Amino acid sequence: MDLFDLSGRVAVVTGGNGGIGLGMARGLAAAGAAVVVAARNRDKSEAAVAALTALGASSAFIALDVGDSGSCHALVRETVDHFGRLDILVNNAGMSIRKPPQDYAIAEWQAVLEINLTGAFACAQAAYAPMKEGGGGKIINIGSMYSIFGAAYAAAYAASKGGLVQMTKSLANAWAKDNIQVNAVLPGWIDTELTQAARRQMEGLHERVLTGAAIPVDGGFSVEF
Ligand code: NDP
Repeated sequence: MDLFDLSGRVAVVTGGNGGIGLGMARGLAAAGAAVVVAARNRDKSEAAVAALTALGASSAFIALDVGDSGSCHALVRETVDHFGRLDILVNNAGMSIRKPPQDYAIAEWQAVLEINLTGAFACAQAAYAPMKEGGGGKIINIGSMYSIFGAAYAAAYAASKGGLVQMTKSLANAWAKDNIQVNAVLPGWIDTELTQAARRQMEGLHERVLTGAAIPVDGGFSVEF
């Protein structure tokens, strides 16, 4: 029995065009799922779709701005129109604004919460009906070790990722009866555009953190420190 056979399943990965999201998209594709890459940057997303197609998967790019709840609902609608169903949603899109807490403009705080937390909620909310209709589903929210530790230089990010954990527990409890499992994964440091920006912006950070690289292995992906 192949425990990871996802043939016939349809997955959406928000922020699936690079970094951790593309790593997970590769893993889902290698397991047989059709994968929707949902993000803003068309060129990066089309390159990701080409990489997933080269693995033998069905894949499509659907433009998404996760900060716009209408865009999240459109993503799910277009996925179901294109692939007929939705089984797996990976809420991976995320960003950070790094500065001391006392220096945040409220608009900056809200922007981080909007993308990382409210966006994930909107996508999950949009996914609920088609997943229920299809007999169940899996929602995987990408938190962070900062969900637990907090971060002196990224209070908004840490708050958004902490909130994501409680949102995950709430949705898991609410939707278990519909056979929809909601889980969170809290990665440590992985070398991506996000953390490269953090290393550039925060003096001394590069020297202080142990960073893993997302390395594709046999079509899946592993983290190497
Ligand atoms: P990247 O910056 O490489 O990827 C972020 C992704 O999110 C991109 O694909 C980007 O695509 C997408 N994205 C950003 N804003 C939006 C938006 N408004 N609408 C739609 N998509 C958006 O970072 P990582 O791969 O490192 O991060 C992926 C997730 O993992 C994030 O949630 C991050 O917080 C989390 N994480 C990362 C860790 C790390 O060490 N790297 C550690 C712990 C958690 P585009 O710009 O095309 O929209």
